[in-house]
Amino acid sequence: MISEQAQAFRSKWVDPDFRRDPKTDLYCFVCQKDLKKGFRYLGHAIMGATEVVHPDDRQIADRELPSEDNLGLLPVGSDCAKRVGVEWFVEATPADQREPRIPVVQGA
Ligand SMILES: [Zn+2]
Repeated sequence: MISEQAQAFRSKWVDPDFRRDPKTDLYCFVCQKDLKKGFRYLGHAIMGATEVVHPDDRQIADRELPSEDNLGLLPVGSDCAKRVGVEWFVEATPADQREPRIPVVQGA
C-alpha cells in the first residue's frame, strides 16, 4: 500500500523534460531550454526539479524539506510557467534577472 505523505505545503508536478542539454548556464528548470536574461518567472523547485512549491507555501517547504530536496527559486521559461499555471510561480525581479540562481540539478 502506498502511504500518502502528509505534506503541509502545496506542490505541483511540472512534467519536466530533461532530454535537452542547455547550451548556457541560464535555462528553464522544467524543459532545459536556454533563457534570456530578461526571463519573467521563477519557481520554487523541489524533488530534483520535478515539482514546484506554491508561492504562498514556500516558507513551509523551506522548513519541512531536507536541503537536498529543496532547490529554491530557479528560472523558468514563460511557456512552461503558463503550461503549469503562472499562479505557481513568482515574477523575477531585476536583481534575479541580473544574477539568476543557476539550476544545480541535471536530470538523469
Ligand atoms: Zn521551459
